[in-house]
Amino acid sequence: MQKLVAIKGMNDILPPDSARWEWLEGTVRSLMARYAYRNIRTPIVEPTPLFVRGLGEVTDIVEKEMYSFEDRLNGEQLTLRPEATAGVVRAVVEHSMLYDGGKRLYYMGPMFRHERPQRGRYRQFHQIGAEALGFPGAEADAEIILLAQALWAELGLQNVRLELNSLGQPDERKAHRAALIAHFERHQDALDEDARRRLHSNPLRILDTKNPAMQDIVEAAPKLIDFLGAESLRHFDTVKAILDANGVAWSLNPRLVRGMDYYNLTVFEFVTDQLGSQGTICGGGRYDYLIEQVGGKPAPAVGWALGVERVLELLKEQEVPSPAVAPDAYAIVPDAASLPAVMAALQRLRAQGVSVQMHSPAAGTEGMGSMKSQFKKADASGSRHALIFGPDELARGSVTVKPLRQEGEQLERLLADIPAWAGTLQSLR
Ligand code: ATP
Ligand code: MG
Repeated sequence: MQKLVAIKGMNDILPPDSARWEWLEGTVRSLMARYAYRNIRTPIVEPTPLFVRGLGEVTDIVEKEMYSFEDRLNGEQLTLRPEATAGVVRAVVEHSMLYDGGKRLYYMGPMFRHERPQRGRYRQFHQIGAEALGFPGAEADAEIILLAQALWAELGLQNVRLELNSLGQPDERKAHRAALIAHFERHQDALDEDARRRLHSNPLRILDTKNPAMQDIVEAAPKLIDFLGAESLRHFDTVKAILDANGVAWSLNPRLVRGMDYYNLTVFEFVTDQLGSQGTICGGGRYDYLIEQVGGKPAPAVGWALGVERVLELLKEQEVPSPAVAPDAYAIVPDAASLPAVMAALQRLRAQGVSVQMHSPAAGTEGMGSMKSQFKKADASGSRHALIFGPDELARGSVTVKPLRQEGEQLERLLADIPAWAGTLQSLR
């Protein structure tokens, strides 16, 4: 039969790699708890108009990257989420979550974009995101940036630069937009097809182009930051002052506009030079108009999303080790007749927090297999101990504990006393 394979750009995450994922997720969970961000889980499929309205019609994602389809039963237009902020905002509005004040939320999960697969760019990829909704002040922008910065430190990541910009408010953008259109009109010849199409519908998006041939005219374009009024500048200054007080280095990138239309005021990206052209590991900013856009009562918000695959790639690039995963013990069972007694003992060990891998013979093996082959498996499992359930031991109501990777003598332990000695098998976790 023809072999079935995964869809291009969609990856299986297998052991032992999956342990790195779990380690990253665990680190995120513990950090989010320390900043009092609570977990939110929203559906992977949402109504298409949510993204069209939320992200903006003239964006890369909505124009060409969405996996959209029609519900066969009722003809509803649906989309696999390309990002999670729009869905989080929908949920926040739908459940009136801001009725008693702001909320700090985080999520993790798969996102879908129909892009050309390459290193750091996949069609199913994963994001972890943080959103602070209902808080207008610069302290919320700063906090969420500090949270990301703390995550890099916690993971042991280095060489991550923070780039900042401010997109100001809609009226300030209007003035900039006119100047921007005039600039690009003067350089019509240098514009690619996307840019020409967006010139009047969404000229700001042109600044976000990935076309190297256009970098020069983008570089020379009028800068939004020069169009900001006093209040926007004050907000931005406060964010920068808090970052400075925390020793967070940043640089101003006046061309940083982000890929979605929903941003205003502070926008930021964490970038590295170590991942080639997919160098942005995390991006975010303030989006004070999205909640209203999605049908809610106007409320401010700020957030970011990081690309899990890119962060893991960078960790690998920098050879950051994650905690090893190996069982505390491997159960060696010479005689299949002892399985009922052995497995009852293993259950009690596990209830005490010991991780135990059971020996299961491969297909075609006679009985449980030779002691030699069982020890070989115990060794390959990385276990720190072998638990030898020989008939003699079992007759005495005990098991032999043999250290496999460290000095120490072999000991016989009474099964009736498991709670008393189980702890000696456990390494620090
Ligand atoms: P890029 O400019 O690289 O396309 P983006 O601006 O489209 O990124 P965002 O929508 O801001 O990305 O998503 C936040 C983060 O998610 C990115 O910084 C990146 O780390 C990650 N990301 C985005 N698209 C992909 C993808 N197709 N595959 C893997 N990671 C991705
Ligand atoms: Mg993109």
